[in-house]
Amino acid sequence: MSALEEVRREVRAARRVLVLTGAGMSAESGVPTFRGAQTGLWQRLDPRDLATPDAWEHDRERVWAWYLWRAALVRAVEPNAGHHALAALAEAKPVDVVTQNVDDLHERAGSRVTAHLHGSLFSYRCDTCGRPAPSPDLPAAPVERLAPPLCGCGEGWVRPGVVWFEEALPLDEWRAAEDAVLTLQRGDVVLVVGTSGVVYPAAGLPAMARSTGALVVEVNPQPTDVTDVCHLAVRASAAEALPALVD
Ligand code: NAD
Repeated sequence: MSALEEVRREVRAARRVLVLTGAGMSAESGVPTFRGAQTGLWQRLDPRDLATPDAWEHDRERVWAWYLWRAALVRAVEPNAGHHALAALAEAKPVDVVTQNVDDLHERAGSRVTAHLHGSLFSYRCDTCGRPAPSPDLPAAPVERLAPPLCGCGEGWVRPGVVWFEEALPLDEWRAAEDAVLTLQRGDVVLVVGTSGVVYPAAGLPAMARSTGALVVEVNPQPTDVTDVCHLAVRASAAEALPALVD
């Protein structure tokens, strides 16, 4: 029996399904992965040099322009067949979606997201007082630099509501993710979709899930740092594999 067939049967029989998603989940919608190619204005910049508190400190106009471009890019694309398959599965049984993605494609496909571990491209807050800020207008075309608005407190700038490298995860999101993982039981299925498994603490969730007795399955065209933690691997893309798995 192929891995795909075996996982399809396990998903059908499962009481609950937990889905851990990373950037590969949205790749076929046209959202570049972190380690995939950057395009246009940004092609010579490593995202890891833009998504840090240090980058914000030293060149916040460049960071702000990059995030508004990414938000505009996500606004212009659609959920793919993988996102839709997960939303459809939730009509048949309980499904928790825990994502590292900062896009809103799971929600736009109709899924309720249990935890956005790395925040959202569509929430904004003051970098000093932390007060939520309204969403800015998104530029029609990418620009290299844009000044972020000043917060009403007069002390800080409005920043993207995402988690940067070196920052802690939002505690309530992490607790929701941990709770979804630690309440798994034998017979439940965990799908680890489109993540390279290198960004912690999110990358520790598949091992935590395995320790509950649930079946852990990787869905990724490539092997990753969490492959060895998974019982099975389906070597196909999210938009190909997920509709077949939840059929
Ligand atoms: P990553 O870029 O490190 O890894 C992407 C993984 O997806 C790789 O293992 C790759 O083989 C796989 N992949 C590529 N295309 C795929 C497809 N069509 N179907 C299934 N898998 C595919 O991404 P990551 O592990 O999520 O981690 C890095 C960080 O990137 C996270 O912090 C996340 O917040 C951020 N990020 C988010 C988005 C988004 O919101 N869409 C986009 C880029 C980066």
